[in-house]
Amino acid sequence: MQCAQCESAAVETEWLEDPTFKVKVPVRRCRDCAFSYTDQAAEAVRTKAQGKCRMPTDDEFAAYVHENLELPPEKVRHADLARFSDSLYKSECPFCLGLLLMHRDRTTFALLRKDRCTLCARAVEYTDDSVNGEPFA
Ligand SMILES: [Zn+2]
Ligand SMILES: [Zn+2]
Repeated sequence: MQCAQCESAAVETEWLEDPTFKVKVPVRRCRDCAFSYTDQAAEAVRTKAQGKCRMPTDDEFAAYVHENLELPPEKVRHADLARFSDSLYKSECPFCLGLLLMHRDRTTFALLRKDRCTLCARAVEYTDDSVNGEPFA
């Protein structure tokens, strides 16, 4: 590794907390010119923290839900989704930590292909022929 300013090879790395993302990122410090900086390695840590560790604020989540309400249903195979608990019907949402509960027609009790996540409001449409041997309405 070379110093970004003087190109000296005497660069040390210290892991310091990034105040915005609340994660430790590698900070380079040059022993020759005393320049200190962060590079792509720190950027990678920040990106990861942003995508996987930081919870959205209430406003961000509300905006996300609002966008999801406008989206056309995503075609999914019920058989491919992770089951929730031991339920034969309830699935984990593929887009968030919410649930797809699966609904039935109020009069015939037949399964409905359209569903909506309880948390992120994303619509899905099941493409399976049947679920647990039950055909769709
Ligand atoms: Zn330097
Ligand atoms: Zn969801």
